Amino acid sequence: MKEIDLRSDTVTRPTKGMMQAIINAEVGDDVYKEDPTVNKLERKLADMFGMDEALFFPTGSMANQAAIKLHTQPADQLICDKWAHVYNYEGGGASFNSGVSCKLVDGDRGMITAAQVEENINPLDFYHSPLTTLVCLENTTNKGGGACYDFEEIKKIRKVCDEHNLGLHLDGARLFNALVAKNEDPKEYGKIFDTISVCLSKGLGTPMGTVLIGNKKVMKNAMRVRKVLGGGMRQIGFMAAAGIYALDNQVERLAEDNRRASEIGKTLNSQSYVGEVEPVETNIVIFYLKNASDEAAFMKCLQQENIRISNMGQGKLRIVTHHDYSEEMHQRFLKVLEKIEL
Ligand SMILES: *Cc1c(COP(=O)(O)O)cnc(C)c1O
Repeated sequence: MKEIDLRSDTVTRPTKGMMQAIINAEVGDDVYKEDPTVNKLERKLADMFGMDEALFFPTGSMANQAAIKLHTQPADQLICDKWAHVYNYEGGGASFNSGVSCKLVDGDRGMITAAQVEENINPLDFYHSPLTTLVCLENTTNKGGGACYDFEEIKKIRKVCDEHNLGLHLDGARLFNALVAKNEDPKEYGKIFDTISVCLSKGLGTPMGTVLIGNKKVMKNAMRVRKVLGGGMRQIGFMAAAGIYALDNQVERLAEDNRRASEIGKTLNSQSYVGEVEPVETNIVIFYLKNASDEAAFMKCLQQENIRISNMGQGKLRIVTHHDYSEEMHQRFLKVLEKIEL
């Protein structure tokens, strides 16, 4: 029985076409900015979002951390949702790398509002508090279950940032899932945000890489910051080629991941052992069992079928659909969910 791995959309392997693109890539030393394929990927993404510059990073965490560094000075404070990846899952990097604290907002499924941003800005003349200089949003949200922002709210947040002279960064690890789900234009995002990190190794299915895109002024020191973080890479065009291939061939199919997640959500909703299923907007399904104490038994049922999902603690379970989760696997998984008895 083939394994069905739904723990994350990072578990994918390159497709044949992507492997060909990797093998055929023209490369050079990217620390000298002489890797034509990296340069091409960076230009492609910057143009796609209508922004000035882009820089290829090994990981999404490093790209986000670099963005925080570019926007802040030590002792500053950034505003983010309490579930934000930059706060929860980057090893405390904001304080370690940039010496900044995070003001955590009690948002809805990982999303915050313009009013909440405004409330959480420390008064400029009150020197007892840290200086607020940056707002970090996530779209789609990870811990919030793939929720997507209403673009109108993002515009309002931009307005608050302008009024208070704050930078605005988007952790776009799964931004393409949102763009496909809501049929949005990347250029609209490019107009609003100062920096955006776009992950290539989640739904887009490459082995590694995240591109940080931004406007000239903010990106001025990006190469230096990446070097400081240890992220200068050499013939990394092989991986950039995978990114270009993904952008050309594997974006539209994200709609399939979104659809399958939605079908899983519906199936879960009608099972007696399931308590709440959070709204499914993209490729993440977060749900709770009716009895949290059944968790081990539930996970064991899945394990017997060679199916893996994530346990996020406190009875919260997570399923993430992705490129390597085929329709055949999907049909088998739905049947397994229907026959489980707890
Ligand atoms: C995966 C992810 C990242 C980047 O993670 P890396 O493992 O460092 O590439 C950043 N933000 C969010 C919301 C993510 O889901």
